Amino acid sequence: MPSRWHINDRPQSLTAFLRRFPDDAACASYLHEKRWPDGFVCPACGACKGWELSSKRWTWECGECGRQTSVTAGTVMHRSKVSLRTWFLAAHIMATHSNGMSALQMQAHLGLGSYKTAWLLLHKLRRAMVNPERDLLVGDVEVDETTLPYRTKRDPVGGGQGRSTIGKMVVVGAVELLEGNAPGRIRLETVPDYSGSTLKGFIRDVVEPRSEIWTDGNESYAGMTGYSHHPRVIGNMAAHILMPWIHRVFSNLKRWAMGTYHGLRKKHIASYLDEFVFRWNRRRWRQVAFDKLLGLSVRIPPMGYRELVEG
Ligand SMILES: [Zn+2]
Repeated sequence: MPSRWHINDRPQSLTAFLRRFPDDAACASYLHEKRWPDGFVCPACGACKGWELSSKRWTWECGECGRQTSVTAGTVMHRSKVSLRTWFLAAHIMATHSNGMSALQMQAHLGLGSYKTAWLLLHKLRRAMVNPERDLLVGDVEVDETTLPYRTKRDPVGGGQGRSTIGKMVVVGAVELLEGNAPGRIRLETVPDYSGSTLKGFIRDVVEPRSEIWTDGNESYAGMTGYSHHPRVIGNMAAHILMPWIHRVFSNLKRWAMGTYHGLRKKHIASYLDEFVFRWNRRRWRQVAFDKLLGLSVRIPPMGYRELVEG
């Protein structure tokens, strides 16, 4: 099957995206190209001879052993009733839209028949946002806590009503500082309290030992071992001046939580934080984000993250 698209020229704008993927066949071509950049290879026997079945959509049959392989196998789209193009569009929006989207917005945007379909679509895409092989943050890292309002009841599907905020949860965050005063990767977690063991435990979980930890004067961080700790207490100077990047992260997080979701639901807070972190950490790396959301195997170029985010 001739590929219509090259892997590395996926455009960024929605208009260009829609032009590039006008139908399911174009999406299937993309999947085919990602899976078999040098042409069909049977995953069972390794034979390179095969043909696309006319009776089964997007499926190839091996000329040697007869094994049938769908271009969607192993991806989030496999055996889904939702069209490839809808998946692609949803992943594109999730990867590129700086604020992400609620299920309600996604339903309207994609013209989906039901809220439930939109919700399931987002839920499945979000699963790809949890990276079990997370590298630890290194170097200079700002750490701070904030509170985030949460909802316990879902707003009516119609939206707008019943957004009573009845509680706040504590979120602790860390951001790497890159050379040239730029923020690198982030980590966010909800924690039960502000205690020293909780906050220092978070740092141990997400930051490489011997890194430089920058915090405010909060006593809970005192006595941290294994790191160089720099508590910054300069009179009454505002926290956002002392630690500008973690405060930038927190204010973006809050704007996103309130703007997109009208407050996060406590039950789903972990996956929402994952979504925010995923998008932030790949904000200069949308192609990888798009492929990863769809469940395609992603080859990260052999260069450090710092070069990626600075590049
Ligand atoms: Zn075979």
